[in-house]
Amino acid sequence: MIQKTLRKILDDGLNFGGHTALEGKLAALVCARFPSIDLVRFTNSGTEANLMAINTARAATKREEILVFEGGYHGSVLNVAAGVPVINAPYQLVTAPYNDLAATRAIVEQHKTTLAAILLEPMQGGAGCIPAEVEFLKGLRALADAHSIVLIFDEVMTSRLSPGGLQEATGVIPDMTTLGKYIGGGMSFGAFGGKEALMSLFDPRKPNYLPHAGTFNNNVMTMSAGIAGLTEIYTPECARALNQFGDGLRERLNATVRRRGLAMQFTGIGSMIGVHMTDRPLRSAADAAKGHAGLLDLFYFDLVERGIWFAKRGMMALSIALEDTDADKLLVAVEDFAETRAPLFEGGR
Ligand code: PMP
Repeated sequence: MIQKTLRKILDDGLNFGGHTALEGKLAALVCARFPSIDLVRFTNSGTEANLMAINTARAATKREEILVFEGGYHGSVLNVAAGVPVINAPYQLVTAPYNDLAATRAIVEQHKTTLAAILLEPMQGGAGCIPAEVEFLKGLRALADAHSIVLIFDEVMTSRLSPGGLQEATGVIPDMTTLGKYIGGGMSFGAFGGKEALMSLFDPRKPNYLPHAGTFNNNVMTMSAGIAGLTEIYTPECARALNQFGDGLRERLNATVRRRGLAMQFTGIGSMIGVHMTDRPLRSAADAAKGHAGLLDLFYFDLVERGIWFAKRGMMALSIALEDTDADKLLVAVEDFAETRAPLFEGGR
């Protein structure tokens, strides 16, 4: 469907510059799906979307600091997890522990007049599919309200986890949201959006409006692929079905490793699954780092040998092409891994 759409778009002519009807259509679809997004603007990547959201918050609050969380990933130049400052954009970042509301509250109190934004993934993806506890999200919402800080959800990964992302699923609505990945139908894509009061800072009809340009921001390939993707493929029904499939699969996987008594678990929400070689509770990237790295490598290679591929760091992003037989195949592979490798777990606890 997407390829058919793209072929037609190619025949109609590539980017001629200027606006087209397509960007309005994709914008309307995005605004209808995500509760926090009254208005949206497009970029070429999730990284760029986060840069723009941060800058919107800085402009709106006239403050400079950004609160981010240990283990967070917001793009190539917003990589909190890697902790290599030279590669990051030179923002004044303040870092707090994920899922630790008391510690975060203390940090926010200290920086309450200097923080422009609180930026987080409502489930940390790269850190190992670690969901934010709803109470943590609610606490951040309250802190942002109390101190006029802009709450930004990076839903570049998590927007897929319900028709309206994790904000819809948890009921905690941020001031701004960033998006990326599949919403552009597989073409290069990013978007930032939010409350009208914030996004209208970019309204060119206003004096002193914020400029936001980008040659390919509204490119016809991304816009048309995105429209086809949201209307004909990843519809709200499809999103619900895929995430139900993922929840069911994760439950079965966890039941298997529990039954076998292995120090192993599958985390995440819906269609995103993290594999961890520990049976201790996982609430942060630091908890995840305590998992047995060697066993995770072994699991990866054992599964590759069986024709099952996932990201080697332990991340499974389920696609809509998967069927029940694929889930069964993974279950069998995990049973086999548990059977043959169980002795290796003894030292892994
Ligand atoms: N935020 C999150 C949560 C991501 O997972 C990613 C990409 N993995 C990004 C931002 C950056 O998106 P992009 O790669 O399109 O720049």
